[in-house]
Amino acid sequence: MVELRNIVKRFDQNTVVSNLNLDIQSGEFITLLGPSGCGKTTTLRMIAGFEHPTSGEIILDGTHVENLPAYERNVNTVFQNYALFPHLNCFENVAFGLRVKKTSKADIQSRVMQALKLVQLESFANRRPDQLSGGQKQRIAIARALVNNPKVLLLDEPLGALDQKLRKQMQVELKHLQKQLGVTFIFVTHDQEEALTMSDRIAVMNKGNLDQVGTPSEIYDHPMTTFVAEFIGETNLLAGKVLNLSQGQLTLECDGLQLFAHTDKPDFAVGNEINLAIRPERVALSKEKVDGHINISARMQERIYSGGFTKTIMALPDGKEFIAQEKTDQLLSLVEGDEVNISWNPAQAVVLKR
Ligand code: ATP
Repeated sequence: MVELRNIVKRFDQNTVVSNLNLDIQSGEFITLLGPSGCGKTTTLRMIAGFEHPTSGEIILDGTHVENLPAYERNVNTVFQNYALFPHLNCFENVAFGLRVKKTSKADIQSRVMQALKLVQLESFANRRPDQLSGGQKQRIAIARALVNNPKVLLLDEPLGALDQKLRKQMQVELKHLQKQLGVTFIFVTHDQEEALTMSDRIAVMNKGNLDQVGTPSEIYDHPMTTFVAEFIGETNLLAGKVLNLSQGQLTLECDGLQLFAHTDKPDFAVGNEINLAIRPERVALSKEKVDGHINISARMQERIYSGGFTKTIMALPDGKEFIAQEKTDQLLSLVEGDEVNISWNPAQAVVLKR
């Protein structure tokens, strides 16, 4: 549905998107995820037609659109700040684009009411935006963006202004709506949890580059770069180098410890500088070593309770912090200063080039 080929965007001498390639399927919910300033919004604005690439091609449903103005592209955008017309009621806000296109009165009536129904706000047709909550305003903005049946909906941090509870509720609603309509959604957020919850695929951007594109579980369980491993969820990183390599089995030296790991990537060689990434929830704490697992001795420093889960922060022999996350009702009894054995299954750690 959307193909981005070798997209480069420069503002003066500043390259904000470098050689980006991405294919987005029809009906897909894809999220552009990355820290502030990595080029997500600029990429979205190029698809919308509000910015033009310095070079590269944008193909929408088989048609080159690089040189088409925004209003000739079959895409609509939903912005974080809603961008509703304050003097128009909800009905007229949603109807606005149809009126500009000189759609018939009867058609406008039925399509606007259908769009309001989709976002469960039919009974709010006569209210003005200042008589709505933040979540309701955002729903009207979504109805307005959907009313002329775009093939692609672009959403730029659409839930950013909502409080945490409403945001979570809208995440679920928006995902259901997208599946129900089958419209391709390209969603921008810097919130990794939001991206993991909502997306079919996530495209992780880092300083204008695409570091990795994959399903939420591919991105979370099999990060391809240290940046992705650190940006998505929490991770323990042990810096080291490859001592030996045989059929996907790596012997590593990390912070003075000799460790083993597996990799399915062919691109490692003896002497490579690496990071070993281990998720806190893949780590087990015990008094004794665990057979067949990697075992490291550490000292307990602090525990952080967060309801069903508790984090234990430990210090490795060289003083580096290491975090384990366990179910609160299965915690090993420990007090500050206790020696503890950290273990993990070598298959569950990821080796990344540094
Ligand atoms: P955020 O999450 O903060 O919105 P983002 O990933 O969406 O960030 P962009 O808004 O795409 O980032 O901006 C990428 C870079 O391009 C930033 O360094 C920004 O300052 C720069 N930039 C964006 N628009 C312009 C512009 N019109 N002129 C000059 N520089 C710009």
